[in-house]
Amino acid sequence: MSKPAKPFRLYNTLLRSTEPLVTQEPNHLTLYSCGPTVYSYAHIGNFRSFLTSDLIVRTAQAIGWKTTYVSNVTDVGHLTEDDVADSSGEDKMARALHSKGGQQFANVWDLARHYTEVLINDWNQLNLLAPQVRPRATQHMREQIQAIEQLVESGHAYEAPNAVYFSVDSFPNYGKLSGNTSGDELETAVRNVVVDDGKRDPRDFALWKKDEKHLMQWHSPWGWGFPGWHLECSVMAQQYLGDTLDLHAGGEDLIFPHHECEIAQAESLTGKPFARHWVHTRFLQVEGEKMAKSAGNFFTVRDLVAPEDEGGRGVPPMALRYALISGHYRKPYNFTFQTLRACAGHVNRYTEAEARVNKALTAASEAGDDHLGPVLEPIYERVLDAMLEDLNTPSALAAALEGVKAIQAADDLNVASARSARMWLDRIEKLLGIKGNEPTRTETAEPDAFAQRVEAMIRSRNEARAAKDWTFADAVRDELTALGVELKDGADGTMWRRTDDLAGTWR
Ligand code: AMP
Ligand code: ZN
Repeated sequence: MSKPAKPFRLYNTLLRSTEPLVTQEPNHLTLYSCGPTVYSYAHIGNFRSFLTSDLIVRTAQAIGWKTTYVSNVTDVGHLTEDDVADSSGEDKMARALHSKGGQQFANVWDLARHYTEVLINDWNQLNLLAPQVRPRATQHMREQIQAIEQLVESGHAYEAPNAVYFSVDSFPNYGKLSGNTSGDELETAVRNVVVDDGKRDPRDFALWKKDEKHLMQWHSPWGWGFPGWHLECSVMAQQYLGDTLDLHAGGEDLIFPHHECEIAQAESLTGKPFARHWVHTRFLQVEGEKMAKSAGNFFTVRDLVAPEDEGGRGVPPMALRYALISGHYRKPYNFTFQTLRACAGHVNRYTEAEARVNKALTAASEAGDDHLGPVLEPIYERVLDAMLEDLNTPSALAAALEGVKAIQAADDLNVASARSARMWLDRIEKLLGIKGNEPTRTETAEPDAFAQRVEAMIRSRNEARAAKDWTFADAVRDELTALGVELKDGADGTMWRRTDDLAGTWR
């Protein structure tokens, strides 16, 4: 009899307690994760937050749930002081365009496109799952304008000479997420807001800013201008996921004002709860200090993973992923180079275990019992249990490493054990996103090494098919697909070609 499924428990900022994640539709999780503003390269702190969402999706999938995952790109220029409810300051995109690094771009649109492309590249390098939808604020302007019109019509917003404001007084639940409900906390939170005589209440925040000089501007019923930052996320989340989401995630700085304002907008529009579960990742620091360009401790993904001859530090992307998830998401995380080195060592063990298993699979088929499967299976259960308990990544990674060490230590890796080990490593990768290092540029530059590896995998798939082990055969095919290899089975055997090979020759 299979074990009863454990609940997937996660801390909910809204309820201030760890609760089972209950989806509206059984076994189908809908989630929205706040993405970055693309005016420069995303830093490792941003990725710590994106990785929390990635691990939520992976854990949900591991227990058989379907997931609908949306993560946006903020490509409208917003203002530099956005940590207060109604921001002021300089436009971030415009400032980036006029900086030294911005000189290569023709305009802000070009700049946003470049940083979005790099974001997706970093995302893939760190093995984050692609969201089903990656909506961009600039492509959802009509929906944002319509939302403001509805809020004005229903008395939740009003037009002033310089902006359209959300009326906080019209939404009595304002503050329910952050606890900034009234009195001193809210006073402190809003003390630096834009001073505008047209505002009815200092707590009100802009839904639309009128500005005919802004580098990115759109026409609206209130003239030329641009939307307030909080609006895009609630509008795009509801467009793709419906009125109520199962889960909404972001970094801890977003609890107030961003998510508080999203709730006010969304719930005023529909009268329904906006998100049932709110998940926030604590900030990453570097060597015990707040990460800041001025402190010289500010790292983007590419600063670390780019090869040394391209100005990077040559850190394997998997080692960086390992380090970024090695601390619990709800504790502040201190990123250090010592930890990074230790994590690189752990990833090397994965690489070695995989190489060992792949070699054993291609060796001549030997009889023998599966010794590893019974050892590895309970380890996978422990890894999954840790993830189901509020994403306990430190425990999950430690348990997974025990399995990797068991594979390294097994002295008779016969074909049956190697198959179990291969499947276990694949399941761990699906759940934690951790696997051995990809071959480096110099290794991949040698086409024969790649061809040899593919051909060895094809041989082991054919052996599995001959033994009617369809699960294993399919797992090998999936792995080949992930490597960018397409297969064709025919009377003369199996042919293959690289999907990115423009000539498309079968070999
Ligand atoms: P931003 O581009 O500033 O809107 O940030 C994108 C995401 O990264 C948001 O969810 C932020 O809360 C998160 N974030 C920003 N800085 C950090 C940090 N140092 N540690 C963890 N998450 C961060
Ligand atoms: Zn957002």
